[in-house]
Amino acid sequence: MYRHGFGLNAEVEHVIENDYRSPVIDYLRQNDFRATVEGLEILLAREFGFCYGVDKAVDYAYQTRRMFPDRRIFLTAEIIHNPGVNQRLREMGIEFLSGRYRSSVTYEDLTPQDIVILPAFGAAVEEIERLRARGCTIVDTTCGSVIHVWKRVEKYARDGFTAVIHGKYRHEETIATSSRVAQFPNGRYVIVRDKDEAQLLCDFITGTCSAEVVRERLGHAASPNFDPARDLVRVGIANQTTMLSSESLEIAEMLRRAMAARYGEAALNEHFRSFDTICSATQDRQDAMHALGELKPQLILVVGGFNSSNTSHLVEIAAEYCPAYHIESVADILSAETLRHKHWAKPEAEVAHGWPPPLPTRIGFTGGASTPDRAIGDVIL
Ligand code: SF4
Repeated sequence: MYRHGFGLNAEVEHVIENDYRSPVIDYLRQNDFRATVEGLEILLAREFGFCYGVDKAVDYAYQTRRMFPDRRIFLTAEIIHNPGVNQRLREMGIEFLSGRYRSSVTYEDLTPQDIVILPAFGAAVEEIERLRARGCTIVDTTCGSVIHVWKRVEKYARDGFTAVIHGKYRHEETIATSSRVAQFPNGRYVIVRDKDEAQLLCDFITGTCSAEVVRERLGHAASPNFDPARDLVRVGIANQTTMLSSESLEIAEMLRRAMAARYGEAALNEHFRSFDTICSATQDRQDAMHALGELKPQLILVVGGFNSSNTSHLVEIAAEYCPAYHIESVADILSAETLRHKHWAKPEAEVAHGWPPPLPTRIGFTGGASTPDRAIGDVIL
């Protein structure tokens, strides 16, 4: 398995720059992240766009193509949640084994001649085993911050603690993380999406909710045969790296209080562990979003894949300050008055008519950790 690229960084660097760099963004970076054009003030968040994990994953994918120009190359899933980047990889002849870009090739069709790239979110243990069994060459671009979460939940499992993962149970990263727990014979996990779901666990722990209700509401997002009476005696908190950090901290505190109420503060170490695994790139972008909101823009546009978890949380934060719209690219600006966008709490994109709000003179912009500068720059233009 290749985990550190192929030493071809210098050869692909200019190609990546050519694909994703934006002169508009370069200009704003050099000018204190702001500009005024014909009375319209443009504000750019101070942290946005490709994070270190995405930089690495994209770099390794380009290096892989360069290293193996004549071999079939596959991704187990989207390398990152950005349609433009995934489309570019498809144009480079990289095929997908799952998801909306899935080709007709299945795992069973893979041969030892094939190269398979694991995305920045990582891949489930059993998926990697399947690839190994096919004899493929594996290029692992899993972000170090994701591996950090894996180490944490593996330790919980080894020590007999159930991992309570604040995340989205269908998200590739959380699927991979929970698979790490499932490697251990007595490894247990339960995934909670938000405070409401965490409250269910707290209510069970403090005796105000039945095991049946917990199983009914969260059984689909828990380890097989999840038994609240057995599995919520010792819990360790972790989170998908891209969740809303303030909510992750609140969930950890909710569970800490519930455990303290049930077992007493003196015994807390025996029953509760917590470790904030939000990655620094996510935290920096969320902090920068708050800072942008404090500048009081009348409108904020957040650019990123609709399936990008970290982008949707940026929109959630932006909406605390002013009308905020999540778009994937400039193509979502359908006309001067209509915009295709996705509300952070809704599953599907929708079209807003009568957009934008009346005469904004100060607009804020940002992009998720998987959004290329080019996509944000095109929207600003
Ligand atoms: S958002 Fe964080 S965990 Fe995800 S790829 Fe970027 S740096 Fe890594």
